[in-house]
Amino acid sequence: MQRFLVQPDELKVDEEITTPIVVIGSGVAGLSAAIAASEHTQVTLVTKSWLSDSNTDWAQGGVAIVLAPGDTFSKHISDTLSVSQGLCHEEVVRRVVEGSPAAIRRLIEWGGQFDRSAEGSLSLGLEAGHSADRVVHAMGDGTGREIQRVLVDRARRCPQINLLEHAFAIDLLVQGGRVTGVLVMFGGRMLRIRAGAVICATGGCGQVFRETTNPEVATGDGHAMLFRAGARLRGMEFVQFHPTTLYIAGSSRLLISEAARGEGGILRDCNGHAFMESQDPRAELAPRDLLSRAVLNQMVKTRHTNVYLDLRHLPPAFVRERFPRIYRVCRTFGLDITRDLIPVTPAAHYMIGGAVVDADGRTSLRNLFAIGEVACSGLHGANRLASNSLLEGLVLGDHSGGVAARECELPAAAADDAGSSASERREDRDFNSADLSNSLKALMWRHVGIMRSGLELAEAETRLEAWQRGADRVCRPITRDFELRNLLTLARLITRAARERNESRGVHFRTDRPGRDDDLWHSNLEIHRTQGGEIETARTAVPPQAATARTEPTAGEPDPKSRRSEARR
Ligand SMILES: Cc1cc2nc3c(=O)[nH]c(=O)nc-3n(C[C@H](O)[C@H](O)[C@H](O)COP(=O)(O)OP(=O)(O)OC[C@H]3O[C@@H](n4cnc5c(N)ncnc54)[C@H](O)[C@@H]3O)c2cc1C
Repeated sequence: MQRFLVQPDELKVDEEITTPIVVIGSGVAGLSAAIAASEHTQVTLVTKSWLSDSNTDWAQGGVAIVLAPGDTFSKHISDTLSVSQGLCHEEVVRRVVEGSPAAIRRLIEWGGQFDRSAEGSLSLGLEAGHSADRVVHAMGDGTGREIQRVLVDRARRCPQINLLEHAFAIDLLVQGGRVTGVLVMFGGRMLRIRAGAVICATGGCGQVFRETTNPEVATGDGHAMLFRAGARLRGMEFVQFHPTTLYIAGSSRLLISEAARGEGGILRDCNGHAFMESQDPRAELAPRDLLSRAVLNQMVKTRHTNVYLDLRHLPPAFVRERFPRIYRVCRTFGLDITRDLIPVTPAAHYMIGGAVVDADGRTSLRNLFAIGEVACSGLHGANRLASNSLLEGLVLGDHSGGVAARECELPAAAADDAGSSASERREDRDFNSADLSNSLKALMWRHVGIMRSGLELAEAETRLEAWQRGADRVCRPITRDFELRNLLTLARLITRAARERNESRGVHFRTDRPGRDDDLWHSNLEIHRTQGGEIETARTAVPPQAATARTEPTAGEPDPKSRRSEARR
């Protein structure tokens, strides 16, 4: 695998700038880090689209915060460890959970408007996996948008932050194992940004799958860039799928949140059969991974492209008021969800895997930090507790931004490590990147999706390797091609990790190894690039968790049935 997207002998740098800190990405993690770092030093933030174009902006449900009377940090920690199936890092979980009240206070101080009860206190929702009401939300299902708005507004007001929109980070610059900056395409020009520390906050990678809830910017550029630079990655086999997203040709895969099922929504197949009752005692409120598999199985069984969510038995006024966004979007496609079934399918939602980082966000490379969805901090283990990821971005983004600013060391001007050039070039016109992109996403969905087997993974790996060799031979300096090549790298990393983890755990399900194997696999799987460009993996130990941690797959799930049956009445 090549070290650079643009080979050094073909690189023409138009401008070079130096800055103490460069942050890549403007989601909750990147903006939080930039704001915190700017209290100490100058920051340059680059983001490949508009500032608000991020997974963060699309987040609906909320942020998990310990505020309710009777709720405690220990309970939230225990819930998080429980869902993680033995792979969480407790020190990180503790830092994030204990940082939650301060994180929300900060947002409110900066103008954040969150939903409140009639008495004026913050409304706290209950979500699957949480043993207490602790999910703070804004505008019903617009939490991410509000957080993004507040952070963008704050960053724009910080004179120490230089914001560069439509600036695409291509590759990290490294000198003798130390990261010295990043190469960026900005307005058709090539910028070399030298920095004392680089904070990578490029978010997730849902676009590697045909069906995803993620916006178009989620192409895993950061994951691929970190891997090429030699950083260690972990947990790449753990992709969380969401069981119910809108499935109408031409619509985005709008997430139909747990709340729709929590309020009494019933999943039906194309024959009208409510198939979940017979599959799990929790029926539609079973955990996301289990539901995603059940939905997929029913689609295969009925040979239909989707299943349906039925809200028709709920009072129409309640449905319109409780799910305004879903109601509005479905109306534009001619569906009235108070009278019609909603076509739904599972889709890739959240990437647990990413750069190995310590509790301060430092990666395995000096002067390089990673935060948010591109990092594998140890907060989520093998499964993610709902509403913990916005919290992670807020708390660890803020913390790592401060650490990076204090530690950054400006690089001396020296040559960056150079990789070998591609040996052979192919004519551009022979290369159809849209076609390859479609094939890649379809292959990942079929072979490396919700259910995987050793045979399918092996087949996918062979094809991906060949496709990547082909794509690497065409080296057009355009962002669409960079993204495609990043997606190919990412696809290979996910596939390799999924193939090596010979068990099922958390969100990773192998049809040929359906059980969890703690004897062999109570460990992390790390992945890195060798000097020769190969993918190498290694198992590493998980730090021991306190005895209070519950690690059974379904322990700690609240029983939201009571709410559900109330709603059905
Ligand atoms: C539909 C949906 C609903 C969700 N609901 C919830 C929820 O209710 N609660 C919760 O906790 N989590 C939720 N999540 C998950 C959560 O939104 C994300 O995990 C979180 O926002 C990730 O934040 P981030 O800052 O790491 O990345 P992002 O918010 O994705 O930001 C990444 C940034 O990096 C930029 N970038 C990427 N590549 C490059 C590049 N090459 N050069 C320059 N810039 C680049 C992007 O443009 C973007 O600005 C949801 C996610 C989705 C998609």
